[in-house]
Amino acid sequence: MSEKFYDVIIVGGAAAGLSAAIYTSRQGLKTLVVTKDIGGQALLASHIENYPGFKSINGFELMQIFYQQAESFGAEFVYEEVKEVGEINGKFYVKTINDTYNSQTLILAFGKTPREMGVPNESKFIGKGLSYCATCDGPLFKNKIVAVVGFGDLAMDAALLLANIANKVYLIIPSDKLIGDEDLVNKCMSEKKITLIPNSEVIEVKGEKRVESLVLKNTKTSTINELKIDGVFVELGYTTKTDFIKGFVKMNELGEIIVDKNQATSRAGVFAAGDVTDTPFKQLVISAGDGAKAGLAAYNYIQRLRGKPIKKADWRKLSK
Ligand SMILES: Cc1cc2nc3c(=O)[nH]c(=O)nc-3n(C[C@H](O)[C@H](O)[C@H](O)COP(=O)(O)OP(=O)(O)OC[C@H]3O[C@@H](n4cnc5c(N)ncnc54)[C@H](O)[C@@H]3O)c2cc1C
Repeated sequence: MSEKFYDVIIVGGAAAGLSAAIYTSRQGLKTLVVTKDIGGQALLASHIENYPGFKSINGFELMQIFYQQAESFGAEFVYEEVKEVGEINGKFYVKTINDTYNSQTLILAFGKTPREMGVPNESKFIGKGLSYCATCDGPLFKNKIVAVVGFGDLAMDAALLLANIANKVYLIIPSDKLIGDEDLVNKCMSEKKITLIPNSEVIEVKGEKRVESLVLKNTKTSTINELKIDGVFVELGYTTKTDFIKGFVKMNELGEIIVDKNQATSRAGVFAAGDVTDTPFKQLVISAGDGAKAGLAAYNYIQRLRGKPIKKADWRKLSK
């Protein structure tokens, strides 16, 4: 168990979590961000044109700016997946495979996670030829043969991006034709490097140390085929993975954490921000704003425990 005790632990290191970390660490709170990566979904956005202050910016670059800002105020980072969170005597713990971290407050900002295929060997090959992010990992497959598994604009975007890097791109879709943005459909159909594999689903990923092939089932004929590839990109969209907080805080029927105007959850001392919450409009600026509110609310929570003055916004509430 980690010896250190933190004022705030933030689960998730993307727009919401990093923004919260900027606010808490700048207020002098001892802050730890436990995250699988820096940037989350924004890593997949190559041109962001609606983040105020930037006419156009790449998601990776934007998230690096957030990260550097949080770090400059003293926020600490560990790169691990959180498996469990809980509360003992008014203090919180966050468990990963490697360690347990403890804190006075908790900010849940773990957003959305790529939807998995749910087939044998999928998790075994993550980072070994299997990726959920063509923008992040595409350049590793220069002149190789890759497959994109998915549907809609996300899958077509990924296939077109990979066609600029790889020698050949198989686009494996469940329907008999491409569906989505007309421009993307036309571009995919005219791109010589893209070969469409319609009416198909992956039933197994195969390989020794890295991905070597995919076992495909034709959904119309039930025929099974093996497709040799060097890499596979899964583009099935995103889901909220909240299993590890079931029963800990209240969630809605979509599995989103219910928060109030101060980003407070149903459990005192636990706040949530960004795409993981029931906030409408899942966007970067909204996640960042939620993160800021959660950071300030966590600060006020700790100040109250210490019998110290809190941030102004709450004075209005208290005087009602
Ligand atoms: C392709 C694409 C393009 C987009 N384009 C735009 C755009 O142009 N403009 C815009 O405003 N929005 C855009 N969005 C939406 C925007 O990216 C999201 O709204 C935003 O990233 C949400 O931020 P977040 O911090 O709430 O969550 P996320 O970005 O989902 O980040 C969650 C973080 O939590 C971490 N995490 C998850 N589970 C765990 C765990 N168990 N343990 C530890 N860490 C964990 C992840 O690694 C990640 O760091 C786009 C999204 C996609 C997918």
